[in-house]
Amino acid sequence: MTQNNKMSLTTRIMLGMVTGVFLGLLFQFILGNKEDVLIPLGLFDLAVKGFFVDGLFHIGGQIFIASLKMLVVPLVFISLVCGTCSLSDPKKLGRLGGKSIALYLTTTAIAITVAISLALLVSPGVGYDVPTEAAFDAKQAPTLTQVIINMFPTNPINAMAEGNMLQVIVFALLFGIAMALSGEPGKRVAKVFDDLNTVVLKLVTILMNLAPIGVFCLMAKLFTTIEMGLILGLAKYFFTVLAALFIHALINYSALLKVLTGLSPVTFLTKMKDACMFAFSTSSSSATMPVTLETATKKLGAHNSVASFTVPLGATINMDGTAIMQGVATVFIAQVFAVDLTISDYLMVILTATLASVGTAGVPGVGLIMLAMVLNQVGLPVEGIAIIMGVDRLLDMTRTAVNVTGDCMVTCVVAKSENEFDTHVFNDPNAAKALEKID
Ligand code: ASP
Repeated sequence: MTQNNKMSLTTRIMLGMVTGVFLGLLFQFILGNKEDVLIPLGLFDLAVKGFFVDGLFHIGGQIFIASLKMLVVPLVFISLVCGTCSLSDPKKLGRLGGKSIALYLTTTAIAITVAISLALLVSPGVGYDVPTEAAFDAKQAPTLTQVIINMFPTNPINAMAEGNMLQVIVFALLFGIAMALSGEPGKRVAKVFDDLNTVVLKLVTILMNLAPIGVFCLMAKLFTTIEMGLILGLAKYFFTVLAALFIHALINYSALLKVLTGLSPVTFLTKMKDACMFAFSTSSSSATMPVTLETATKKLGAHNSVASFTVPLGATINMDGTAIMQGVATVFIAQVFAVDLTISDYLMVILTATLASVGTAGVPGVGLIMLAMVLNQVGLPVEGIAIIMGVDRLLDMTRTAVNVTGDCMVTCVVAKSENEFDTHVFNDPNAAKALEKID
């Protein structure tokens, strides 16, 4: 297949995103001001809503998300088996696990501390009137013991069918170790897995080239229906969460990356653009995983033996952006309901939100469900979630981008510390093109 498109993939995705947002807002405006536009209304509604929004855009967007999700299980399983098997030293696996989990938990704790501090400074909930109809149906959040036990699959095929990533990770690790220990037969199977890996990665590349259309459809549909007016009422909460997300992504990650690896934060953030746009438009770190993995290995230079482990693990247990929303939301809800939280309450929030992020699946909106667990811990009314639900979608998109950036930052740190990092790839601006070539 030849590449006759001069524009870079990033530019094309960006274009898809911007035109999608613009068209969605335009449709929303026209649909909301039908009386003024003097068009036969029934026909217009039918054309815009029926044909475009609920038709073309919906179908295009859903197919795009489905194809991303379709790749997650095969990609994680195959690349993790390859990665584990290629680790020369089995002890390395334990070290990798220890370092990644410690870093993921630490960055999440930092994220929520920043969020709580900023929220206390801004006081987003002071003076906000509680709407009488606020109601939220809290679902049961899993306990930590459940999360740990559930990591071990009784049936790996079932784990794959259900997309239970922690179970798939555990099975792939064990399978990869067994392969490495199996001598000749293990080597033969490893060759097959290496080839499979190449094929699945090609599929990722093909899909990425269709991303501009998928992203356009997702944005156009979302922005036709999203109620931007709600943001005004909750502006203080909304912008405090956004500010905390940006502080964490731009300042905290940059500082950690620089101090722990010496790598350039500017290069890192520039190379994160595509993955962030995928995360933003899908609101799912899980669906973004194929792109995150490609970014970590082909753009940032982390070796597959590390990235194939840290990226899926991060997409499953590392949710810094989500923890930030939960920190600000807790302070907001406490202030709205005039509940005074003590220092130990805040410490409890930091601990619970950090652990909750382990149990938060990387799919849209789960962060809000896990927020119920955090609020319960400190005795705040779960109904408070209903107040912020209306503006959560846009925040979900942004925090998912932060979650994915965190996964890649930790991947770079761990890979660098294990000498499984190619600095030439990291510093090569053309490595960005690696994801675009289909031929
Ligand atoms: N959408 C987020 C993610 O996939 C999770 C959440 O905060 O709801 O990372």
